[in-house]
Amino acid sequence: MSKSFAVAVFEGDGIGPEIMKPTVDLLANLRSDLAFEIVPAGAGHYAQSGESLPVASLTTARAADAILLSAMGLPDVRYPDGTEISPQIELRKELDLFAGVRPVRIATGQPTPLALAGGQSVDFVLIRESTEGLFYSQGKGDRRENEARETLRITRETSEKLFRFTFDLANQRKAAGRGPGRVTCVDKANVFAAFAFFREIFDAEAARHPDLVADHAYVDATALWMVEKPWVFDVLVTENMFGDILSDLGAGLMGGLGLAPSADIGEAHAVFQPCHGSAPDIAGQGKANPFAMILSAAMMLDWLGLKHDLPDMRADGDRLRQAVENAIEQRTCVTADLGGTAGTAEAAAAVAASL
Ligand code: ATP
Ligand code: MG
Repeated sequence: MSKSFAVAVFEGDGIGPEIMKPTVDLLANLRSDLAFEIVPAGAGHYAQSGESLPVASLTTARAADAILLSAMGLPDVRYPDGTEISPQIELRKELDLFAGVRPVRIATGQPTPLALAGGQSVDFVLIRESTEGLFYSQGKGDRRENEARETLRITRETSEKLFRFTFDLANQRKAAGRGPGRVTCVDKANVFAAFAFFREIFDAEAARHPDLVADHAYVDATALWMVEKPWVFDVLVTENMFGDILSDLGAGLMGGLGLAPSADIGEAHAVFQPCHGSAPDIAGQGKANPFAMILSAAMMLDWLGLKHDLPDMRADGDRLRQAVENAIEQRTCVTADLGGTAGTAEAAAAVAASL
């Protein structure tokens, strides 16, 4: 292997380092062309140094080929104005990571709230716009004595990039035999001008992809269908706030936060991190579930492999995902949040054994 890829690693707070360590070990065993650099940031770092995202860490992240992040933030460490420390949100802004990618797959043998009709398999991706929408005025809402307002902002530029990314992903899934090539725009275009605008831009991009099926759904109906018949979805794309809510619903469908991976992707950079937080209530006890972190690392291999045209790296992403699914199916090596008795180390060892 010729080229080597620099991976910036944010170990973060709480269970962050506990789930990152086995993940980096698995990646290092799988591939010799990844060079990891651990970079300081987060609430713990802020408490020590007064900086939550040091300039040097941001510089390393910007220069890296990809970024792995576990979880950052602690309930009792806050900025002086009381806001939470979440450098992951700063990274999204700094690196313009507009597409939040949230795959939803139900692993064989994993108990979930749904008794799936006829053994239908659930495997879809939710894409959440991550830089504007109803989060645009985050922390700067207009608060008056008897009234408060927020801004819902949709721009043509970001929406065009978002939909281009979305249709590309649907094409890749179709080519890999993982989806029928169907993209659903999730909105509330019947009520809000901003969503009618969002839908128009979606339709314009859809017209460039006659080989893919494009349709629309209202967010309320989408929430219902995600529970009633989640197997109908392939790729969903939506606004920031709707995506925030639906991605937790997706995590619930899969069997819990401990199984939900994510990627925040822009034109040049990408951050891969589990959907869950730093879980301070179980930190330091060796019982955190590492699977969401490992599945996020598999998404990193998918993305790097595609970007650099390395089919073997994409195959390693599939192998890693499959190894996690095998571990889940065995049931003997899953952690307490999934109904098992294994610790972090045993769960990660089962993945390594399956590889
Ligand atoms: P954030 O605000 O960062 O999203 P949160 O307040 O939503 O954080 P989490 O840190 O995600 O909370 O934790 C929510 C619950 O899920 C906690 O009880 C935590 O212990 C549990 N949890 C989260 N991640 C894991 C994991 N990887 N393994 C086991 N339990 C987890
Ligand atoms: Mg949360």
